[in-house]
Amino acid sequence: MNRTLTCILCPNGCELEIVYEGTQIQSVSGNKCPKGAGYAEQEIKNPMRNIASSVNLEGGTMPLVSVRLTGPIPKAKIMDVMAEIRKASVKAPVQIGDVVIADVLGLGCDVVATRNVGIK
Ligand code: SF4
Repeated sequence: MNRTLTCILCPNGCELEIVYEGTQIQSVSGNKCPKGAGYAEQEIKNPMRNIASSVNLEGGTMPLVSVRLTGPIPKAKIMDVMAEIRKASVKAPVQIGDVVIADVLGLGCDVVATRNVGIK
């Protein structure tokens, strides 16, 4: 099979041409550096993504606080993690970096606040 994707690891944005069978990479071209081949392999074998969202906030000057993961997770787990984020609720005040959900779903990443919100 063939697949074309854009490497997002740096601003060059190389267009990668990937030839693969199942999860076995046969060739990668179009990459200006070796990182592109690694990125292509990751995307074919186990694509990872980060998530930014918001969580309900009790007693704050805003009803929600923005959050993000501390690292990427498997793309296939995004909907499950979003469900955990929707269920979560925290009490004001919240500081940037506060852990809202520790080790979400055992994936090795925390959900942390990305803004400060004071008490109402
Ligand atoms: S292949 Fe290398 S040079 Fe090209 S976008 Fe990826 S990291 Fe940047």
